[in-house]
Amino acid sequence: MPHVITDRCVGTKDQSCVEVCPVDCIHPAKNIDGEAAFEAAPQLYIDPDVCIDCGACVPECPVEAIFMDDELPEEFRAFLEVNAAYYRQTG
Ligand code: SF4
Repeated sequence: MPHVITDRCVGTKDQSCVEVCPVDCIHPAKNIDGEAAFEAAPQLYIDPDVCIDCGACVPECPVEAIFMDDELPEEFRAFLEVNAAYYRQTG
């Protein structure tokens, strides 16, 4: 049951979440994935196969974009798949 980043992240991409994630499962991050990958992505995404559900990222997000998947508001349900798809595409 991973955490999920919604499109509230779009236009902000603050990266505070990246700094606190203990397993580095939030991408693309400027310092890890490079400037080009960071700029190309509309938002950040959580790798569902790596997230350990620690919850550390949730209070760090200035736009409240991150939810535990079973607490996702209905209008954000699609982002469960959007986050997973990013990691299928990038490997
Ligand atoms: Fe990383 Fe924890 Fe957030 Fe999962 S819940 S993305 S492990 S900080």
